[in-house]
Amino acid sequence: MNDIFYEIQSKIKDKILFDYDMGNATWFRTGGKAKGFVVINNIEDLKTIIGFTEKIKFAVIGVGSNLLVRDSGYDGLIIKLGKNFNQIKIENNLLSVGAGVLDLNLAKFALKNSIKDFEFFTGIPGTIGGAVKMNAGCYGFQTSDNLKRILLLNSKGELKYIYLKELKLKYRSSSIEQNSIILQADFNFEYSSYEEILEKNIFIKSKRKETQPIKEKTSGSTFKNPLNKFAAELIEKSGCKGMKVGDASISYMHSNFIINNGNATASDIENLGKKVINRVKEMHGVELEWEIKILGE
Ligand SMILES: Cc1cc2nc3c(=O)[nH]c(=O)nc-3n(C[C@H](O)[C@H](O)[C@H](O)COP(=O)(O)OP(=O)(O)OC[C@H]3O[C@@H](n4cnc5c(N)ncnc54)[C@H](O)[C@@H]3O)c2cc1C
Repeated sequence: MNDIFYEIQSKIKDKILFDYDMGNATWFRTGGKAKGFVVINNIEDLKTIIGFTEKIKFAVIGVGSNLLVRDSGYDGLIIKLGKNFNQIKIENNLLSVGAGVLDLNLAKFALKNSIKDFEFFTGIPGTIGGAVKMNAGCYGFQTSDNLKRILLLNSKGELKYIYLKELKLKYRSSSIEQNSIILQADFNFEYSSYEEILEKNIFIKSKRKETQPIKEKTSGSTFKNPLNKFAAELIEKSGCKGMKVGDASISYMHSNFIINNGNATASDIENLGKKVINRVKEMHGVELEWEIKILGE
């Protein structure tokens, strides 16, 4: 396996780090090691890596705000998009956003340019790549609302624009395969009043502060909301608030958030999640589905 990594290294510009502690790359601040970890800055190198998919597995991540890496680690290459994928521009009447751009920075850009309906990105601590893949959203808005198309490097190494319809973006899910890399998202947009946009940004920021443990080591909502139900409500009604496994606990502030109180392992977090799933199933007959993506064996 190491030989393959060395072969890839000889063909790409950016440096592969070995046995990389994924606690450094996820909001949970815990988890195992990735065999390899690399921040890539150009499409050619991404194509080169895709050429090795028969020999190694890889996963692209954003800032790991929706990610848990099991303690046994990830036996493949973790790819992060570097600064060359961090551009935001207005071109051909589209708001063109690199997949590595932080959601918050897109919200700031939209505010500065009086562009409306991107305020909700203030509330999501990920990247645009992660937002598209997860169809992230909050307060009545989601990524698919204004999305026109994405630039995708698919598992065959082909660079293609994929339009919204084909992406099948649904509530916190998409049809984008694991081995495809989102490089850019192009949004339709409209202008509005700066003051109104600013007001919405401030509202979302303060609402989050009031209702979410945003200063904690967490990955946001652990489970998807079942149809016509709220996961947080079901968890709370099942008496799971404050439930613990090891150093992981269910937040008192928001029952759908799991918190690493400092020394939680990835297994603590996953086992706590499983305990909640069982308890909610027992009490309400509803099977909660993980929203958090789990990597590793
Ligand atoms: C405090 C807190 C609050 C949150 N609140 C919300 C909320 O209100 N609404 C909401 O929807 N989410 C919320 N989240 C969850 C999370 O921020 C979102 O899911 C976010 O979109 C994940 O982005 P990321 O860049 O961190 O992706 P990661 O967590 O790194 O990855 C998530 C998934 O996206 C894939 N991915 C990432 N980038 C790419 C790419 N370029 N190409 C292909 N695949 C890619 C990964 O492989 C993985 O499957 C919250 C999280 C936290 C910690």
